[in-house]
Formats: sequence, C-alpha cells, structure tokens
Amino acid sequence: MEERAAIEEYFDRLWPLLRSLNGEGVRRTHEILRELLPLETREIPSGTPVLDWTVPPEWVVREAYVVAPDGRRMLDVRENNVHLMGRSMPFCGRISLAELEKHLHSMPALPKAIPFVISYYAPNWGFSIAHEERERLPDGDYEVVIDTDLVEGSTTISEVVLPGELPDEVLLSTYTCHPSMANDNLSGPLIAAFLYRRLAALPRRRLTYRFAFVPETIGAIIYLSQRGDLLRERLRAGYVVTCAGDPGPFTYKRSRRGDCLADRAAELILRRRPGPPPRIRDFFPTGSDERQYCSPGFNLPVGSIMRSAYGDYAEYHTSLDNRDFVSFDALVESIDAYFEVCRALDTNVVYRNLFPFGEPQLGRRGLYSRLGAHGSEPVPIDVGALRWLLNLADGTNDLLAIAERSGYSPAALHEAAELAVEKGLLRSEGPQVA
Ligand code: ZN
Repeated sequence: MEERAAIEEYFDRLWPLLRSLNGEGVRRTHEILRELLPLETREIPSGTPVLDWTVPPEWVVREAYVVAPDGRRMLDVRENNVHLMGRSMPFCGRISLAELEKHLHSMPALPKAIPFVISYYAPNWGFSIAHEERERLPDGDYEVVIDTDLVEGSTTISEVVLPGELPDEVLLSTYTCHPSMANDNLSGPLIAAFLYRRLAALPRRRLTYRFAFVPETIGAIIYLSQRGDLLRERLRAGYVVTCAGDPGPFTYKRSRRGDCLADRAAELILRRRPGPPPRIRDFFPTGSDERQYCSPGFNLPVGSIMRSAYGDYAEYHTSLDNRDFVSFDALVESIDAYFEVCRALDTNVVYRNLFPFGEPQLGRRGLYSRLGAHGSEPVPIDVGALRWLLNLADGTNDLLAIAERSGYSPAALHEAAELAVEKGLLRSEGPQVA
C-alpha cells in the first residue's frame, strides 16, 4: 500500500486506544505497531527500580462515565478517552454538582476543548470536560462510575535495531503514552515506524539505527537503565520523534551539547528544505525525553525534530489536537525530513584529497567536460560539488562541514565523493565521530 494511505489507516486504528504510561491500550498500540516493524517488546514489572525512579503500578480502566440528573450519560471514556483524568483512582457514588465540580477540569480560554489532564503520582480521580458543556451542567445529583485500578502489573517498552555496517548508532526515540491526541503524540510513533521501513529498504546502511518506543519520561528512564552504557559508547546522533504531524514550519531543538553531529545534520537538512525556515531552539531542560537522554550523566547527542512543538500551539494537550489538526501530507514530509537527516548522517565521512598540490586534472579522468557548460560531453556529476569536495577534503572536514560551507547538499557531495573515490582522487578516512 502507498505510504500515505498506510499512515492514515494506522492513524485511525491507533487513535481510539486508551494509552497511558502503561496498560492494555499501550500493549495493543505496540502490537499494532509490530505489524509495521519487528519491535521487540519487554514488560517491566511494577516496582522495578530504574535509575532514581521506580516502575509505577499498571493502570487498568474498565469503564468511566457520569450520569447527569436527567439520566443522560456523559463524560464517557468510551466516547472520548481524554475525558477521564489519566491514572484516575476508582470511584463510584452519587454526588452533588458542587462536589463533582471539584473533580472537573476545563479550559475557559478554549471552551470547546477537553483538556488532557493526568495525575501521575497523587491518588485522585477526575474528568475533563469542554468548558461550554461544563457551564450548562444542571444542578442535581450526578452518578459517577470510575471502574479503574492501579495494580502490580508492568510497563511496556519496545525497541528494534536495524543493523548497518558499523556499530555506530543513530537513535530514534518516540513515546506511546498519550490517549487520543494527534500531533502530541500519535505523529511520533507513526513517523518512527514508517521511517524504519524506508531505512530498512535501503540496499546499504553504514550506520546502525535503533528505534525505541517507550512511555515518556519513565520509559526513557527504563530504557537508559538498560541501554545507557551501550548508547554512551555507540551513539553518534539521536532524535526524539514527536509533534511532527501538523503543517507548521519545522522546529529543531538542539541537544544539550548544542553542536554535536545530530545538531549539525538536522539544522543543515532543515535549513535546506523548501518552505519557511526552521525554528531552531537551544536545549532547555523541559520538553520530552531529550531531558533524560541529555541528563548530565549521559549527555547523549540527542535533539528533537518537530513541527509545532509541545506548548507552541493552543490545541496542545487537548481533544482539539486531533485528526483535523494534523495533515497526512505533513506527516509524510516529516518522514522525508527525518529520512534525509539519517542519510546525511549515514554518508558523513571524512575524505582526503590524494592530489592536494594544485587541482587534479579532472578532464583526463572523465570528470570534466572540456567543452565547458555548452559542451556535448555529459558530465557525470556536479563539477561544482566535486571542486568543493576536493578543496575541503584535507582530512579535517567531514561531509557535513563541506555541505555547510559550500551550500551543496550532502546527497550531491556524497555522489561526487563516491565517484572521486572510484577514480582514485579521494580516500575515505572513515566516519567523523561526534
Ligand atoms: Zn505530551
């Protein structure tokens, strides 16, 4: 099936699942994603110590709704799973409107939005409601049914490693812990899954690509407790894949290091893309899982390529971050951008010009048309790109640096470099280590 149509189909299948840090909806999400890529899934038992944290109890939701005084059923989690406050404790009873009000969340500034509210660690229950609906609630007694549990269960995480020729890795990390919301968060796992498929289809990969699908924060902490040492040794670049499904301009949030390979590749590719220039942000210690990957002990080269980032759009963390807010064309464009960045990383080699004294003669190697621009002989590559490459390939510049300085794309430079290596003009001195 065509990629865009497949993304749409998977979006619609994943949309209604009630996701949280853990639980059945997350397990089912990973099961559906496994149809797209061979994820290895692990269940981490509640209570397991991970770095400075403990794996939380599993949240079980059977049903949750409220019956209004007129007998109408409302705030039903089956109708919209954003209605139920995340991690709500069980509660059943008849209460007054005044009592119910203490457990309702709404947004006066966005009266049609149902806000996404979660009580991670304080035991509580609650419902989210559109503010315009809240204002119309009649006086009287309300029957509240919240059939939930927090049990000793497990938290689901998945990973898959797509091997390349080198052990050096690129990490793509995304999360699967939000209920029905599109930009934050379904765009992330969909982009990651379809990016995997594009990378897996390549005839050759120099680098190894690691994909992690984890709940935000606790999942990244679990993942680092298991893979942190390995990542410290092998990771060359990584990105947190999130908030990249809307048609807004790209946003790049830099790693804590600020100028690592991940930053250079993402900024170069995003600046070269058509459309409005990307918004480049320095690292800040709020946001998503780059907070964990870039914690000082790990300080991994991980940034985040987004479109409209968390907090930058009014619909963020509400029911209005839905299918209408994202665009499937934008999702495909975001996959294109991620793919291009991965290709730029994969081809980022340091070359050395083997004829550095004067320019090597290109004509007798079939690399330059003697008749110039109007000549009849086809020039097999972009001679301009080749000239930049030969000039800057002194063993100190990687391909990205040559792209930055010359204005040529990493892809054009890579093509010229391959041919120059074949003709004995250049030698690859291996990857530049971040
Ligand atoms: Zn979020």
